[in-house]
Amino acid sequence: MDFSSSDCYRFKTFIENMNDAIVVENENGEISLANQAFCDLFNITASPEEIIGVDCAYSAQQSKHLFKDPELFIERKNEILRNKEPVRHELVEMVGDKFLERDFIPIFEDGKYVGLVWVFKDLTAHYIMESQLMMLTDKIRKQSLTDALTGIGNRRYLDNELPKYHDYARRHDTPLCIAIIDIDYFKSINDEYGHEIGDQALVHVANYLKTSIRSSDLIGRMGGEEFMVMMPETSLEDAEKWVMDLHALYRSPSTLNKRMTFSVGMSCALADQDYKVTLNRADQALYQAKREGRNRVVVSEA
Ligand code: GH3
Ligand code: MG
Ligand code: MG
Repeated sequence: MDFSSSDCYRFKTFIENMNDAIVVENENGEISLANQAFCDLFNITASPEEIIGVDCAYSAQQSKHLFKDPELFIERKNEILRNKEPVRHELVEMVGDKFLERDFIPIFEDGKYVGLVWVFKDLTAHYIMESQLMMLTDKIRKQSLTDALTGIGNRRYLDNELPKYHDYARRHDTPLCIAIIDIDYFKSINDEYGHEIGDQALVHVANYLKTSIRSSDLIGRMGGEEFMVMMPETSLEDAEKWVMDLHALYRSPSTLNKRMTFSVGMSCALADQDYKVTLNRADQALYQAKREGRNRVVVSEA
């Protein structure tokens, strides 16, 4: 390629001032033009003018250690050169968690191959930002589903999960039991000990439930002093036994000098019923437990 004409000179100036690393090869595989960004990216200490005429295959060998998989870099480069088909936006990973986007443009003049252009765009900052954004999005998503006081799932979490598990249980004809757990006379604990001790008592119950459930169970705070445990793939008989034990084994927090108890309403998903019905049945069972004197477990029969 001849860069002596004005047009070529303008083209050369344009390339020299690009932020992307650019190298132009002639038909013999020698560098005919490169910019400073190319030298910087590949740690070439010589100036762009000094590398004109250098064999590109040799140059690639010298730089391959900068790539995460040096042999793959060389192999893929050779493949691209053999194919002589344009390559757009190909991601290349370099050492030091650096990401490049590689473009390859073969040049033909009247059907005759006369060389090529490689363009390397440094996307590292873009990738760092993208991964930070993903982490942030994930953190916000988790926060939006977590109860700030107790660290367990919140109402939104339960509202998301219950319909999903309920649908699954009905579709696959497997049982799903739920238990709504409500602390008895909690208002009096706040009144007697203050809101802060009340908060601690809520955390105490949440921790007790969290450490008691099986890995397949789900737990969340419905609001106030009310919690829910979802037990997928658990028969009503097994769930009832487990909840009875959970209820009987609970010990009040040491910050209180009186016993704190809770009441539980339980229900199991039925084939012909919506999750709202299951929820409502557990709620009704809880009311019954309260009416019958609190500190007990009531199971909805149907
Ligand atoms: P019952 O046995 O009928 O359930 O009586 P209860 O007093 O537990 O129920 P009630 O609904 O009358 O009162 C619930 C109390 O829970 C009132 C409210 O101030 C308190 N509460 C709700 N959320 C919080 C919280 O985040 N922290 C504290 N400390 N108290 C809360
Ligand atoms: Mg209560
Ligand atoms: Mg309540």
